[in-house]
Amino acid sequence: MYYKSTRNSSVRVDSAQAIAQGISKDGGLFVPSEIPSITLDDIKALGSMDYRARAKFVFGRFLTDFTEAEIAYCVDNAYTSKAFDSDNIAELAHLFDGTYMLELWHGPTCAFKDMALQILPYLLTTSMKKLGTDKKVVILVATSGDTGKAALEGFKDVPGTSIMVFYPDDGVSAMQKKQMTTQEGANVGVCAIKGNFDDAQNGVKAIFTNAEIAAELDKNGMMFSSANSINWGRLAPQIIYYVSSYAQLVADGEIKLGDKINIVVPTGNFGNILAGYYAKHMGIPVNKLICASNANNVLTDFIKTGVYDRNRAFHATISPSMDILISSNLERLLYMLTGENDAQINEWFGKLASEGRYEVSDEVKAKLAEEFCAGFCDDAQTKATIKKIYDKYSYTCDTHTAVAVKVYEDYKAATGDETKTIIASTASPYKFSGSVLSAIGVDSDADEFTLVDKLAEVSKLPVPASLAALKDKAVRFDKVIDKTEMKEFVFSSLGIK
Ligand SMILES: *Cc1c(COP(=O)(O)O)cnc(C)c1O
Repeated sequence: MYYKSTRNSSVRVDSAQAIAQGISKDGGLFVPSEIPSITLDDIKALGSMDYRARAKFVFGRFLTDFTEAEIAYCVDNAYTSKAFDSDNIAELAHLFDGTYMLELWHGPTCAFKDMALQILPYLLTTSMKKLGTDKKVVILVATSGDTGKAALEGFKDVPGTSIMVFYPDDGVSAMQKKQMTTQEGANVGVCAIKGNFDDAQNGVKAIFTNAEIAAELDKNGMMFSSANSINWGRLAPQIIYYVSSYAQLVADGEIKLGDKINIVVPTGNFGNILAGYYAKHMGIPVNKLICASNANNVLTDFIKTGVYDRNRAFHATISPSMDILISSNLERLLYMLTGENDAQINEWFGKLASEGRYEVSDEVKAKLAEEFCAGFCDDAQTKATIKKIYDKYSYTCDTHTAVAVKVYEDYKAATGDETKTIIASTASPYKFSGSVLSAIGVDSDADEFTLVDKLAEVSKLPVPASLAALKDKAVRFDKVIDKTEMKEFVFSSLGIK
């Protein structure tokens, strides 16, 4: 197994190189040369293992240049009951008949990004060692709120690394901002951008692929890498929980081995749902992958029509981690659906960059329709769904997860499909206390910590210790810059003149 670039199929690197580099020099994303398969017997065996053992199995299939001991080192250090508040790492909550909430927010920063970002630093430093380089890795992150904190927490004080996070100043929740601006660690930097997430992501991508900047870093004994889901080391860990939850449902007797399930994912950058696609094509029996968006519904339109058009108004919603108009990981999917046609990918993504729009072929449209369904909902519907789930099932979900629940309800009503379904629950409701409380009908005009206390009263969910502790932490990072000043910020933080 090796990794290719979506913009140049002749690129051939092993997984350590793909993870260390983050993105290919041609601007393409690394994809595995094949999707390894998993049999029903494998799935049965996984059912009696814990999350760590399941993770080792899946990594073993994708990171074929890693030794068993290297994989075990990464997994055993990342998925601990110290970092996660559940030794199951991911929890499957039964919501109603045949619908399961895959709670991916039991990690240290209370969002699903922890599932990958707790292990990425181990994968990355192990990769550097395997490559025999002692360069310092500089991690650049663009975040719509959750990735930034999860990456900071994963990389803080990791020897041989330094991390810089850019977030849209007006595009994150009060709690998310507090989480990032109070970050501890000697190797971390955080900076707000006047702009939206796409501006931050484009800025980071431009720095990554600029040869002059790379040469400057090289001269100083450093190299860039990415903790965004453009890095394969982010995506691979996300495949595990889909494999794991299917094996768990079989082990629990909720489904029979071989039964198909649907997977619903609240989507922004298309990383999480793409991991579901990989799990399906490894051999997990999946009927439909259902892509749920908020008012930024560029993916809904794309999956329904085959036209990707980012020329539309950007909406700041109550599910900010999905406020994205350019979904990076779609490039990986289209590379696979075109039969690895790198010329075609260059053409479409060139058009996306110059005109903001491209249309895929009829063949790709047909494949999209076979694998995916899509829908979206606005903030009012998101809130109504939070309230409905709360009233009906005494279950409190966050705003992103509620988008997925609503889109799934619409899907079920439209199709009558009774297939058992996993809904990815991507954040703790405490990260978005204000919106969740106002949805339930509780006055939410208070500071973020009062809101946490109020939410504890109505939800009866334990308050995550990491969020409660923020109250007493001092703000360390309050810089707000123009999106054109990102390179200067990076250089000055690294002490490069
Ligand atoms: C990042 C995020 C998403 C979107 O995930 P993608 O992999 O970018 O599609 C959804 N919900 C929450 C809470 C997130 O943090």
